[in-house]
Amino acid sequence: QPGAIGQPSGIASPLGKLKVTHPERVIDESTGITKIDLIRYYALVAPLMLEHLKGRPVSLVRAPDGVKGQIFFQKHLETAKMTGVRLLPAELDPGHEPLMEVASAQGLLSAAQMNVIEFHTWNAVKTSIGKPDRMTFDLDPGKGVEWPAMQEAALVMRAFLKELGLVGFAKTSGGKGLHVVVPLKRRHDWDTVKDFSHAIVLHLAQTLPKRYAAKSGPRNRIGKIFIDYLRNGFGATTVAAWSARARPGMGVSVPVSWEEIDSLKSSAQWHVGNIHERLDQGNEPWKEYGPSAQSLGGAMKALGFKP
Ligand code: ATP
Ligand code: MN
Ligand code: MN
Repeated sequence: QPGAIGQPSGIASPLGKLKVTHPERVIDESTGITKIDLIRYYALVAPLMLEHLKGRPVSLVRAPDGVKGQIFFQKHLETAKMTGVRLLPAELDPGHEPLMEVASAQGLLSAAQMNVIEFHTWNAVKTSIGKPDRMTFDLDPGKGVEWPAMQEAALVMRAFLKELGLVGFAKTSGGKGLHVVVPLKRRHDWDTVKDFSHAIVLHLAQTLPKRYAAKSGPRNRIGKIFIDYLRNGFGATTVAAWSARARPGMGVSVPVSWEEIDSLKSSAQWHVGNIHERLDQGNEPWKEYGPSAQSLGGAMKALGFKP
């Protein structure tokens, strides 16, 4: 037991030692989840999650006073104390502090020790920072939208992408909506990918205006689902698969297969407290993700989009 005499509140692992301060501090009152619970959670999912973190600039969401306290979204951080969180070359983001990468399980754990709850990644990897390797659609329910409409929206998104010759992959966000990710060959620049993602969303919103909105802002989306394409700009981030959320219940973002969308009960179906029920699947639902990376040329033609 952490805190027992002679038992330092540390986690010893082949990856190194981690000194955990305030292990028993409750970070989510709604579930009683403690800081050490979250650190153990990250130790458990590290191998799965690192596949989604490796090589990507990451932003960290810190919640020193728990999920109901003040939350800090940080692109830059004092990384000196975080073993395994690495600073990336400054030229990746000229004129700013260096970006960070979580490159190892130890980085994940030492970040959690520094009260980081969420990990958000860019749509590009550091070796190709000017050319995104994925396009993300963030499906956000407006006021009054019920869960079945979210499930349907994800499937509509999938069908439309397929119509364009593109393959999408879904994940829960651990919050309210769903994320659809399209793996790309690194051919197009940020503006092209973002403009094209916007064109896709505009098309959907114009075709089904009662259901989908292409414009953000709560007033534009009462009773509708906002398909957020703004995750596709340079420097924009989306929560990484397997990240826990700094929200009551501590949902987890989990890769899912299209076949199971219909049976999902909510985007926070899996959370820190029940993730063991999902570990057997791991990243399996996305096993075709890598081989599915494609260029957008054909899809642009199909939509009549001129870059
Ligand atoms: P939900 O399914 O509930 O919508 P979500 O993760 O998609 O969960 P959003 O509010 O739709 O949440 O998206 C917020 C996104 O904006 C995050 O993915 C995050 O990476 C990004 N972001 C950019 N700046 C910030 C910030 N200051 N605070 C929080 N998120 C930010
Ligand atoms: Mn969202
Ligand atoms: Mn959003």
